[in-house]
Amino acid sequence: MYGDRTALLAPGREPLTYMGLDGQAAATVSALNAQGVRRNDRVAVVLPNGPEMAAAFVSIASGATCAPLNPAYRAEEFRFYLSDLDAKALVVDRSLDSAVVGVAESLGIPVLELTASELRPAGTFTLKPFSETAANSTAATPVFAEADDIALVLHTSGTTSRPKIVPLSHANVCASAANIARTLALTPDDRCLNIMPLFHIHGLMGAVLSSFSAGAAIVATPGFDAMKFFGWLDEFKPSWYSAVPTMHQIILARADRNRDLVERSKMRLIRSSSAALPPQVMRELEQTFGAPVIESYGMTEAAHQMASNPLPPNPRKPGSVGLAAGPEVAVMNDAGDLLPSGETAEIVIRGANVTAGYDKNPDANKTAFSAGWFRTGDQGYLDAEGYLFITGRLKEIINRGGEKISPREVDEVLLDHPAVRQAVTFAMPHRTLGEEVAAAIVLAEGATADAKQIREFASERLAAFKVPSRVVFLDEIPKGPTGKVQRIGLAEKLGLTSA
Ligand code: AMP
Repeated sequence: MYGDRTALLAPGREPLTYMGLDGQAAATVSALNAQGVRRNDRVAVVLPNGPEMAAAFVSIASGATCAPLNPAYRAEEFRFYLSDLDAKALVVDRSLDSAVVGVAESLGIPVLELTASELRPAGTFTLKPFSETAANSTAATPVFAEADDIALVLHTSGTTSRPKIVPLSHANVCASAANIARTLALTPDDRCLNIMPLFHIHGLMGAVLSSFSAGAAIVATPGFDAMKFFGWLDEFKPSWYSAVPTMHQIILARADRNRDLVERSKMRLIRSSSAALPPQVMRELEQTFGAPVIESYGMTEAAHQMASNPLPPNPRKPGSVGLAAGPEVAVMNDAGDLLPSGETAEIVIRGANVTAGYDKNPDANKTAFSAGWFRTGDQGYLDAEGYLFITGRLKEIINRGGEKISPREVDEVLLDHPAVRQAVTFAMPHRTLGEEVAAAIVLAEGATADAKQIREFASERLAAFKVPSRVVFLDEIPKGPTGKVQRIGLAEKLGLTSA
């Protein structure tokens, strides 16, 4: 439909048209089919951020299930994710030098190497099997996915368990992309500067697929870089960007030094999601860029957007995540009753963008769904005008500037340290990140270890963002009223205030 229009751009590369992107998708599905990968087979993807990752997402999903993983994971994390996914293939860029290749080979998962050429348009690539012995017959006609097939799976941080698999169908992701495009009134003339990682739902949907669904263009950068951000504004003249509050704060901190470039930028809007946006940051961003800042509420299970503040002339409410923006949004008590506006309880959603349920996890599904509504684990209320305010969280995940961490996953790694008898990971308030990872540790009798040793041990087994920045040693971990250790409120109990 948008054939000649630009779909993808990237620093130092020729633009790719929608027709070019279509061709890339067909070639990718052919290459996957030739390796015996078919509809609903999961393909793990470990790529640097950039145009190839954006194109690989839609191309792989066109004929299989795309499962992007964070390239920063350590070998043990990859082993968990690849096994849990039951991946049929791994697509990887060799230049990353990631532990994932060795792990995939040890698990017998075929590895496909993605190669891009600087001379070809942004986002174009070829896929070739690593191993000579791999099947390599070319599929004559690519077999494309259908609406109910699973387009994307991502792991989401759990409360009491390891991360859970969230399957999102084509129907889910297309509904969500259209919701975001509608909220932001995207048109083919828009151009989004993507600085979000493309292994997380925010970047995949809030920047890439929302843009593609509107026939708009996306500038796929190598990732957030405060030094390069202002140059990119000048080079690409984006009409908007989406980011987490921590990035907005870093951008603001450098805006004065880049006053000329800021003044020349002509953004129609700035979007914020994945963590609470402090009202002062919203105000300062609006003043600096002269554009409305649209805070939205997103979640992996909803294929990202659930609520959003509207564009002008409708009011944006600082501190609110806005109006229902796609799915229905309500507030439900423990008994399963929907509550009137003004009352605070768990935020629930239902709609075409919401996952049908976690994969192979009936227990999690039983607690997550009530009478057709999905329980978000977030707490809040709707005001009389339907604006949603998030007041807290019922789930134990840690939200480190938008990056989510399962405390149980960190506990398990810490417990492997020979000197550790008990470990409880929890959220500690942080000035710019909102929350940071902390751990309380009880040492085994007679054992010694200091915080540095514990952190080093964790760093070898966990991606850097999950490593506790603060480790406290205790004789006993304080218990809640029911005798259970309660992670929520632990920082306060231990007197750990904002870092
Ligand atoms: P994820 O699945 O990584 O997108 O994380 C979803 C969670 O991020 C939600 O359940 C919320 O706890 C949090 N979140 C997303 N957007 C916002 C926001 N605008 N304000 C506060 N928390 C948010």
